Amino acid sequence: MTAEPLDVLWCASNAHYEHETGGHTVTFGPSTPGAMYSVEYQCTCGDQSFVGSESESCEHIQAAARARCGYGWEASHGAPADLEGEDECPKCGGPLSVVTIAI
Ligand SMILES: [Zn+2]
Ligand SMILES: [Zn+2]
Repeated sequence: MTAEPLDVLWCASNAHYEHETGGHTVTFGPSTPGAMYSVEYQCTCGDQSFVGSESESCEHIQAAARARCGYGWEASHGAPADLEGEDECPKCGGPLSVVTIAI
């Protein structure tokens, strides 16, 4: 099977998200620009942890993880969300962004 690029529409919070809490700013995004499969949370308090172990992250990251919409994330695993024709996220009302994935 040859991987074919596919454009998927998803909530922009999957590509970049910022959350301020407790005097710190948590940023969620690719750890390497363009590397959509390697996203992580970073907090200005100094902690840096991947969401996979949220419970081991600082309280700011945990709060950001709960607040982030993340609608359509499943699309990156082979089940594109059906957001064709939508102009805002059906879950959080935020902007959508297009990501090109290889399936
Ligand atoms: Zn923190
Ligand atoms: Zn959303």
